[in-house]
Amino acid sequence: MKLLEYEAKQLFAKEGIRVPKGILAGKHEEILLHMDEITGNVVVKAQVDVGGRGKAGGILMADRDTVIETARQLFSTTIKGVPVQRVLIEERLDIQHEYYVSITIDRAKKQPVILFAEAGGMDIEETAQKKEDAIRSINFSPLLPDVPGFLLRELCGNAPAEIQKTVNQLYHVFCKKDALLAEINPLVTTPDGVYAADAKLIIDDNSLVRQGIAVNRDLTEREREAEKFGFSFVQLDGTIGVIGNGAGLTMATLDLIEYYGGKAADFLDVGGGADSERVMHAVHLVAGVPSVKVIVVNLLGGITRCDEVARGIIAAGVSVPVIVRIAGTNAEEGRRLLSEKGYEMLDTMDHVVRKAVEVTG
Ligand code: GDP
Ligand code: MN
Repeated sequence: MKLLEYEAKQLFAKEGIRVPKGILAGKHEEILLHMDEITGNVVVKAQVDVGGRGKAGGILMADRDTVIETARQLFSTTIKGVPVQRVLIEERLDIQHEYYVSITIDRAKKQPVILFAEAGGMDIEETAQKKEDAIRSINFSPLLPDVPGFLLRELCGNAPAEIQKTVNQLYHVFCKKDALLAEINPLVTTPDGVYAADAKLIIDDNSLVRQGIAVNRDLTEREREAEKFGFSFVQLDGTIGVIGNGAGLTMATLDLIEYYGGKAADFLDVGGGADSERVMHAVHLVAGVPSVKVIVVNLLGGITRCDEVARGIIAAGVSVPVIVRIAGTNAEEGRRLLSEKGYEMLDTMDHVVRKAVEVTG
């Protein structure tokens, strides 16, 4: 399983590898929530499972004034055909030198192998082809808890000691995470020390159980995402997106869609006590289902507050029409917020479903 850069960086940081301060954002509206944290220059990085993002236009420079526009630009493009769902906004490093380090298994020697290059960065492949000795490598016993110091020095040549330390930390990640590949390109020096500017980690699928990662191979990327938020989510192939709370209410919404001749695009139960952020993520998720033409939000406020629900829907700001039925705690306030923004609301579940079926034909 290949992790995205931001996921890999979280694991690297746990081993003490320094990574730039960053914010993960799903849509430009989410960036607004974090604007206070953005002070200086930043790099906006598409979180897609694609190599060579830099050359494919997936890494853009910005500052506080241009960050939203820049992120929006990434959200509206594809990187090597992959749509951008999330971006990582990182404080821009003042890079002095870019190194390359990569750890994998040398199958022939049945040992880990560490590759290192003084000239890392986006041109590493070409560099390696042109100059055979541009990349150095070392092998050693996989039973050792650390990379032996003398081998580190041989591998890293004149690179600063902190670079050697980082290589050893990356080896710890590689072992602990049962990785097939752990890579930092570029691993950089800055006036403020050494940083992993990029991160790549592929975990051996055979170890997913041990790593506590769900092994359901049939999950779509969207379903994996839903799992992270703790939503019960099943993607279907109809045109009406469904967001409900409680399995019963959500299932009943699906039944009613079927009854009126429509087809549901998903089942999504946000669970109890959902706040605006969860609702926003739910709306994003369902809006991302390719077949969706309209979204029905059918929520009953108990512990869940309808004004929070409304705020979440508004924060999501998706372009597909959202038809809302909310009832219960703070429903009045929720309706007021939504009507201010021009959302369509109907009083009963029957009405919202009929309306959605009508819209989708
Ligand atoms: P990749 O193309 O998918 O490997 O994406 P990277 O994360 O490696 O970024 C590509 C290139 O962007 C790097 O090699 C750097 O040269 C540049 N880059 C990334 N982050 C920063 C940064 O914080 N500051 C500067 N100056 N350049 C950066
Ligand atoms: Mn890179």
